[in-house]
Amino acid sequence: MELKKNNLKSKKVFIKTFGCQMNEYDSNRIYESVSKIGFKKTEKFEEANCYILNTCHIRDKAKEKVYHEIGRVKKNFKSKTKPVVVVTGCVAQAENNEMIKREPYIDIVIGPQSYHKINDSILQHIKKKEKKEETDFDTFLKFDFFDKIKNKNSKVSSYLTIQEGCDKFCKFCVVPYTRGPEYSRPFNKIIEEAKQLIDNGSKEITLLGQNVNAYLYKEKNKIYKLSNLIMSLEKFSELKRIRFTTSHPIDMTDDLIECYGESKKLAPFLHLPIQSGSNRVLKLMNRKHTVEYYLSVYEKLKNLNSKIEFSSDFLIAYPGETEKDFNETIKLVKKINFINSYSFIFSPRPGTSASNLKLIDNNIAKRRLKIIQNELFNNQKLKNKITENTIVNVLVENRIENQDKFFGRTEYMTSVIFEGEKDIEGKIVPVLITSSNQNNLFGKTILKKNIEAA
Ligand code: SF4
Repeated sequence: MELKKNNLKSKKVFIKTFGCQMNEYDSNRIYESVSKIGFKKTEKFEEANCYILNTCHIRDKAKEKVYHEIGRVKKNFKSKTKPVVVVTGCVAQAENNEMIKREPYIDIVIGPQSYHKINDSILQHIKKKEKKEETDFDTFLKFDFFDKIKNKNSKVSSYLTIQEGCDKFCKFCVVPYTRGPEYSRPFNKIIEEAKQLIDNGSKEITLLGQNVNAYLYKEKNKIYKLSNLIMSLEKFSELKRIRFTTSHPIDMTDDLIECYGESKKLAPFLHLPIQSGSNRVLKLMNRKHTVEYYLSVYEKLKNLNSKIEFSSDFLIAYPGETEKDFNETIKLVKKINFINSYSFIFSPRPGTSASNLKLIDNNIAKRRLKIIQNELFNNQKLKNKITENTIVNVLVENRIENQDKFFGRTEYMTSVIFEGEKDIEGKIVPVLITSSNQNNLFGKTILKKNIEAA
């Protein structure tokens, strides 16, 4: 027996989120959407009346992981009332109706640009037991729907999606097919949502988009870019830090670069994926930029502020990558000294242009990954090590459960675990770093009177 509509008010929804920050943002917005039809959020999936799986297609075997997860849910609810099972996210978009055919336990499949239809789809299913698949690219309608629902997120550090989709078509990437063409939200709607987040207590906002720095919104005779958004957010006195991710090198325009000199709140940290240090491989990937161009962006930013740090993504053993190409990537890694980075071996994504290319021998690929990760991780450890015995400004995100310690981040996104006084959540506090490892800094706050009031 399934969920009865007249009983909806006491029903619970659980969302399991895979993947990037954009999915995390979407999951929060979905919670807010389904609360309008009576669902309450639960952290325990076993008690859910509606189970939503928000999926990611970036990593290997994404599809299989979804079916595995659904199998787990099925097992758990074997002798209980079946929840309404909804699959959202990029796997839903890529697989569409096939998912319901393969796994009839799934009731609804909704792609990322159709979330405005989620309430109706759930209600419809409850009423008529209809299976539903919604995978149109209705980005405009989606944001129009969500703009009418207040963002209640009250985290110290919040995400705000300003742009979706991608027109770049890197040969290895599935995003242009799962998120559709580039779309930028109206400028004033973003500012309104930022204000809601700030009123809720957010001290840091990370502007999100698959190509966040391609943000471009035209209204009457005005053009709004990411730089305009940053400088407008700057004016909210309660907001302490601004970040944006993920960027494409060719959209690092001069107005955006200049923000790093003008803004006092833009973090001196840029995640700017390069993927390879070889122009030949960049061309094979259809990345639309060269190593020299990337370096010119790096130099401009460093000239503006030498304290700016970079992080990147690297795709190792892309089909056609030679030992020479790989060594050029290592040369670039040594030159830029990335503060942290993500690196993966290429694996084909169905539907992309690179999906049928001849793979590089797995042992060679693994060896290359090991070499680059040694380089990247050693650098990361070293950067953290030299922070020891210095004082860093940490935005305190939360107290660690059952401990007298806090968690926060530096301007460079490095995690800090530290001892501190009461009532410091949401404040930027000076922390003396006493030790470190590859991913974290450890320390304690220094004198209370030195705490910068937030
Ligand atoms: S720019 Fe980014 S999102 Fe777009 S295709 Fe390339 S890797 Fe994918």
